[in-house]
Amino acid sequence: MRLSSPSRSARLAAATALLAIAGMLGLVGCGGDTAASAGTGPRIVVTTAPLGALVRDVVGDRAQVDVLIPANLDPHDFQPSAKDAQRLADADLVVVSGAGLEGGMQQSIDQARQDGTPVFDASAHVRLRTLDEHDHEGEEEGDHGHDHGAEDPHYWLDPVLMGDVAVALAPALKEHAGLDVTARARAVRARMGDLVAQMDGMIAAVPQADRVLVTGHDSLGYLADRFHLTVVGAVIPSLSTQAEPSAAQVADVVATIRRTHAPAIFTEVGTPKAVVDAIASDSGARVVSLNTHAVAADGSYATTMRELMKAIVTGLTAR
Ligand SMILES: [Zn+2]
Repeated sequence: MRLSSPSRSARLAAATALLAIAGMLGLVGCGGDTAASAGTGPRIVVTTAPLGALVRDVVGDRAQVDVLIPANLDPHDFQPSAKDAQRLADADLVVVSGAGLEGGMQQSIDQARQDGTPVFDASAHVRLRTLDEHDHEGEEEGDHGHDHGAEDPHYWLDPVLMGDVAVALAPALKEHAGLDVTARARAVRARMGDLVAQMDGMIAAVPQADRVLVTGHDSLGYLADRFHLTVVGAVIPSLSTQAEPSAAQVADVVATIRRTHAPAIFTEVGTPKAVVDAIASDSGARVVSLNTHAVAADGSYATTMRELMKAIVTGLTAR
């Protein structure tokens, strides 16, 4: 049995708690409005930070790139303000991550499109995986919350797919922003090969048998596929953070950790702390925080991915 989605107030309380934690860690404000603008020229508005980092790599300083969803806020849950809607309307090109990720923004995105703002949906240019392909053992059919069905929106965690997005974006930038960045986009895609090689080198420290991941929600499928890891369970067994695990699902995760000897629970934005603490205490697994939905302090996609892999390797190998 599955419980209904958490109430709005519960989610607000969780968001407030996360903000408080982020504040303590000094993280608030390192990716919001202040860091959002770069360069001059046409205005590109991107919904998420990882995609914004990629777009900046592609356009360099030849366009302003604004990221709409502030760092450390959950993109699955983000509700745009009237000001955000205006930023969408004023853009020369809006770039969305898509596949249902920006569930709370869909109406504003649709409105901008209706009003004539060009919208580039990056998810339309990658081969999306579906949860069914890699279903968790014993998992129930999920209500996936929003309209994204079973398509996994977390493709930005595979550098190869982001290289494909970079190349696909170039014609849209030419058409809607007057930018000829085809060569830059190809160079960005070529560098993704180097990034994958670096990350492969990092994960090589972990024996294949130990490459088991328990995650906050089902966000690491693409990364697992690319780097030969296995996702054995998730605190929220859903592609979105907008579901609440049932008692039976929590018990399943504990049993899975014991059976697979997964050493760590990798939590993310939107992972309920009380549930994680209970699972950690029952299973003996350590809790490791992963930055899966935002970017590194330097704003770079490559740095973000290297830091992510470093945290995974540390979480899987630390004694
Ligand atoms: Zn997610």
